[in-house]
Amino acid sequence: MDYGVVQQCMHCGMCLPTCPTYKLTNREGHSPRGRIALMRAVADDELEIGAPFAEEMDFCLGCLACQTACPAKVDYAQLFEVARAANAADVRQPLMTRFYRGVTLGFLFRKPWALRLMGRLLGWSQRTGLFEAFTSSPLMQWVPAKWRRLVTMSPRVEPAFSDALISPLEKPAGETRFRVGLLTGCIQDIAYASVNRDTVEVLAQNGCEVVTPREQHCCGSIHGHNGDLAHAREMARLNVDAFPLARLDAIITNAGGCGSHLRHYGRLLAGDAKYVERAKAWDGKVKDIHEWLLEIGLRRPERGLPKMTVTYHESCHLCHGQGISSQPREVLKAIPGVRLVELKDANVCCGSAGVYSITQPEASEALLDDKVVHLLDSGADVVATANPGCDLQLQRGLGEAGSGMRVTAPVSLLAEAYRAL
Ligand code: SF4
Ligand code: SF4
Repeated sequence: MDYGVVQQCMHCGMCLPTCPTYKLTNREGHSPRGRIALMRAVADDELEIGAPFAEEMDFCLGCLACQTACPAKVDYAQLFEVARAANAADVRQPLMTRFYRGVTLGFLFRKPWALRLMGRLLGWSQRTGLFEAFTSSPLMQWVPAKWRRLVTMSPRVEPAFSDALISPLEKPAGETRFRVGLLTGCIQDIAYASVNRDTVEVLAQNGCEVVTPREQHCCGSIHGHNGDLAHAREMARLNVDAFPLARLDAIITNAGGCGSHLRHYGRLLAGDAKYVERAKAWDGKVKDIHEWLLEIGLRRPERGLPKMTVTYHESCHLCHGQGISSQPREVLKAIPGVRLVELKDANVCCGSAGVYSITQPEASEALLDDKVVHLLDSGADVVATANPGCDLQLQRGLGEAGSGMRVTAPVSLLAEAYRAL
């Protein structure tokens, strides 16, 4: 535990009203202040890392709303990552948990070919109806509860992935003003490759040449958020090697969860003399797509979309993790035809939070229920959000509520408006 960061907490409690798990339970132990007190007890050798500590850290969403609210600027993201890593290192973890972590973090999210192969199989079974036949069959009762939830919540896989939709080098039609790299992600790559394509088109419309290296890997946020720092570092090194950093003005990410992690490669690789300087240079070049478009002067589409009312749900790791809140709204407001209406509690977690909807189904559902009520109250036709996990969670919640509200990314709406020309 980083004792210096733990000590920064002055126990003021300003973070408590913003913490979703505290609001759900009203218990100090489920608040940021309570969790930091536990971390301090571990650092002081007054508490052993074991099941109660692990359960509390697992109940935390890692949404970082507490970080935004904290007047002492406690870096909760760093504390959370270290606490989860301490749990993961605990040898008393159940065998099934170790197996599950080995398959997902140690293999699928480390090997792009394996994730794509799994994506192709899943996509094929979804398109042929085999997947639905299996999930609605009695066979499902033999699948362990957690895995059952994972299966039923699988994303709809797109027919083509990013490498089929995006060339390694894409040039704008007119003058090239900037040269940027694009991160295509892991889940984003198989379930939202069209959002990556839209991002390339939007960048090209704004005078950017786009480099998309084939050798890139998952950003490692899923490893970092789940306490697997060794593999998070491995992913960081591979990505730093994959991008021609010195020849790029920026490295663009369009997923809130990835961006928040990608900006901290320098901290992650601080102990690696070979990579630390390049990792710091990397951090300085990572830009969220909305942030970048506003920085370079967003070109407003001449024509627009059919009139629609759009609301915006903030990804926690975009607003709290990166401080990007107004920029996606500005992008939406720039699209002719779009009327933006504010969503109540737009910056409160939807309950997706990585694998939280699988590991903590009750809390996740409670947060999703609130979010769906606010979405329906907004009167919007479309909800825009910039993170694949949020997109999936909102689609599921709205679908179960019988709503036809469309869920999409701000950058996809902007790309549609450019195409309307
Ligand atoms: S990260 Fe979110 S859930 Fe965890 S303590 Fe902070 S506000 Fe609460
Ligand atoms: S707001 Fe910051 S300083 Fe105050 S209790 Fe929460 S984490 Fe500690």
